[in-house]
Amino acid sequence: MQMIDIILKKRNGHMLSNEEITYVITSYTDGNIPDYQMSAFLMAIYFNGMTDTELSHFTQVMAHSGDMVDLSAIKGIKVDKHSTGGVGDKTSLVIGPIIAACDGKFAKISGRGLGHTGGTIDKLEAIPGYTTTLDSATFSDIVNTVGTSIIGQSANIAPADKLLYALRDVTGTVESIPLIASSVMSKKLASGSDAIVLDVKTGSGAFMKTQKAAIELAQKMVSIGEANNRRMIALITSMDRPLGNTIGNALEVIEVLETLKGRGPIDLVEECVELAANMLVLAGKGTIEKCRIRALQSLTDGSALQKMRDMIAAQGGDVGVVDDYKLFPQAKYSASLLASEDGYITQMDTEGCGLASMLLGAGRVVKDDFIDFSAGIKMYRKTGDQVRKGEVIAEFFTNKKEALPEAMARYSAGICYGNQSIEEQPLVIACITKEGISYPSK
Ligand code: URA
Repeated sequence: MQMIDIILKKRNGHMLSNEEITYVITSYTDGNIPDYQMSAFLMAIYFNGMTDTELSHFTQVMAHSGDMVDLSAIKGIKVDKHSTGGVGDKTSLVIGPIIAACDGKFAKISGRGLGHTGGTIDKLEAIPGYTTTLDSATFSDIVNTVGTSIIGQSANIAPADKLLYALRDVTGTVESIPLIASSVMSKKLASGSDAIVLDVKTGSGAFMKTQKAAIELAQKMVSIGEANNRRMIALITSMDRPLGNTIGNALEVIEVLETLKGRGPIDLVEECVELAANMLVLAGKGTIEKCRIRALQSLTDGSALQKMRDMIAAQGGDVGVVDDYKLFPQAKYSASLLASEDGYITQMDTEGCGLASMLLGAGRVVKDDFIDFSAGIKMYRKTGDQVRKGEVIAEFFTNKKEALPEAMARYSAGICYGNQSIEEQPLVIACITKEGISYPSK
């Protein structure tokens, strides 16, 4: 088989056979196809897409390119979640403790930040001592005893995806429905859970900028999961503004702790409760109404907070951070951004907010960059809020003083002011299962 023939076939809009797909993925993972040919192949997929049959096989081969995690040592139904990536998205850190407090099992293998979007593992590493690398016996043990454990993706879970993602990132082939669907679902299938709730983001901070594209992506992922005997629900959620009031690793963990203490921002609480409730439904814990009440209750009665303490302790972290936020890394420099007009914030370029935080040191500009856990942004006003000229709308934190002007300019360039408030958009736009699509707010 020749890679050039496969590239031409895809470029000319023909369907690939299972053998051809297997050859491409396995040969690339083994280092036998050069990046320039793989880039051309990815671009051909970007323009011509994949049939459902191609996508299903492509995902299977990626999933089996490394270890298939065995979670059978964990008792009960294991539920997982995956977000397609957003700004200020710290939901997994709230949801894990909620699921554990509601008697579920959350065995989560998470990723690091990508581009303008943050990653759960980088956030957790802001907790002094917390280890995100555990052997599988310890991981299973913590999930069995605490109910939740969150660790990083080992080098050998879907290694084909790791390689392809890095290549897509630099070849303009990230925003492709079949490529995102196979990337997400290969990791989920390899990670071993029984049931999966997907959080598919749409809007200015998401890879899928339109609801139509987000729904199509969600439908593809739900059918891949169901075809592989996973129980699936996908929620389409808004990423037209950052989630919660903080961006940046330590700042986001502090916001998580506040949320677990019952003092979280409304949008973050609403989204976490909705995702957690759907996960509890898949875990057989009752109706969606009952699961919503249980999830919310765990945030107000302290039971989810206790699970967070237990998880931090079990993974070697300093539990003192829960009560003393000064134990988190602290930034040397900060600066305030003032509203430039009287009126309302009518729009935020959410991707720009994520990039601003990255410039401060909260994310990686190149692959091997170190993360500054203390860097980030506290947002005091977001889309829909009324502002007075000169009032502080955001505060920037960093250890790189020289980064402040550019980061603040990047952030403020994406803020639009108007003199009328805007209509509040629902946070959860649609829910997709194998039965079809529903619109919770209608
Ligand atoms: N998240 C993933 O895991 N993969 C993608 O391609 C995009 C978002």
